[in-house]
Amino acid sequence: MKAWASRFYMSAAWKKTRDAYLTSQDYICERCGEPAKIAHHKICLTKGNIDDTGITLCWDNLEALCQDCHNKEHHKQERELRYGFNADGRITPPIQENS
Ligand SMILES: [Zn+2]
Ligand SMILES: [Zn+2]
Repeated sequence: MKAWASRFYMSAAWKKTRDAYLTSQDYICERCGEPAKIAHHKICLTKGNIDDTGITLCWDNLEALCQDCHNKEHHKQERELRYGFNADGRITPPIQENS
């Protein structure tokens, strides 16, 4: 984890917000109904918005997710970036990972 992000994730304000949000969702994943333990930020945190509590601590920007759905969410973002177009203008498949 990057230093600028860990400072936020270690903060009492975030821990309080995360716990309150997950409690409000009964610690249930909003996508699959499995137990959730992660409060995911829909708008990813960046150096530019890490001090903006309207993003970092706003419930509208949070989603309760289980580990699986959280992995998929972040994986999906990476995969979408790898889509490309070949010389015929067709979408080329994403690069498969072995992990
Ligand atoms: Zn899930
Ligand atoms: Zn996330």
